[in-house]
Amino acid sequence: MEMLAVPAFVLDTSCRVMIWNRACERLTGVPADEVLGTSEHWRSFYQDQRPTLADLLIQNRKDEAPALYNVTETDTHCGAQLCAESWCDMPRAGRRYLAADASPVYDDQQRLIAVVETLRDMTDEKLAQIALEQLATRDGLTGLANRRCFDDTLQAEWSRAMRQKQPLSLLMVDVDNFKAYNDANGHLGGDECLKRVAQAVASEMRANDLVARYGGEEFAVILPNQSLKGAAIVAERIRSRVEQLSLPSRFARDGRVTVSIGAATAIAASGTDASQLVATADAALYRAKHMGRNRISLPTAEPA
Ligand code: GH3
Ligand code: MG
Ligand code: MG
Repeated sequence: MEMLAVPAFVLDTSCRVMIWNRACERLTGVPADEVLGTSEHWRSFYQDQRPTLADLLIQNRKDEAPALYNVTETDTHCGAQLCAESWCDMPRAGRRYLAADASPVYDDQQRLIAVVETLRDMTDEKLAQIALEQLATRDGLTGLANRRCFDDTLQAEWSRAMRQKQPLSLLMVDVDNFKAYNDANGHLGGDECLKRVAQAVASEMRANDLVARYGGEEFAVILPNQSLKGAAIVAERIRSRVEQLSLPSRFARDGRVTVSIGAATAIAASGTDASQLVATADAALYRAKHMGRNRISLPTAEPA
């Protein structure tokens, strides 16, 4: 155990540390002589006291594991085992993503005599996975959700709205006269403008809303459980927020960057599908443009 390359520690049936191997010393930054014979091993992993997987196994508290850890496996073919993985802010070694496996050790009479917990530092793999997820779902320029993430989320929210018989609203936000802005300020200046507008739109969102870069200079906002009236209020706030950025634009009517917004709402079981919601919001956006830009437009009512 001492020379094992895998970080491991062993607890006896009173939850005292019997073994704390070299690899575990390296992982935690805590030398064996500080923890051997004590029940203070949790201090190596956490600021606040909490049982390790090994403690839970010994104390027959396996049921509590899911509330404390992201449990990946219990009762594998090896018997009563606990596997979990999570971020861990170790007081001495810092923040690492650890995968832990706790396995019981029995004597000849099948009595529990100890629990071995092995640890794997999965930080690099986890960071790579997060980076990949970011790449797959985020727009590189604005940091907002990308088109693919928007499509997936809209489908999921559509199904949920139908199931729960709740309204689902959608806003299509398009920067006005952006081609002219680009021509005047260069592509990089245009990019900077898009970032600022994206931030302004995102700042009006609640926790369950999703704002995505739909394409070029167009953003889409999914508003779950929001009526058309509520959606119109959010749209107006977004319009006003972008106007207040006061990004100078020579070609705009009042000299600054503005957006036009089309809104749409679907009520559950209305017999339409998600693509129709997009089409309705798009049509409203078109009307907002037609009416002179820097305004919001609803499907039924007159443009506001
Ligand atoms: P409208 O008010 O009718 O929306 O007019 P518009 O000029 O905004 O619309 P149009 O579709 O003619 O032009 C959109 C422009 O957005 C054209 C394109 O060069 C620019 N654009 C699209 N994506 C990007 C981007 O990522 N960065 C920059 N800088 N410009 C972009
Ligand atoms: Mg535009
Ligand atoms: Mg456009």
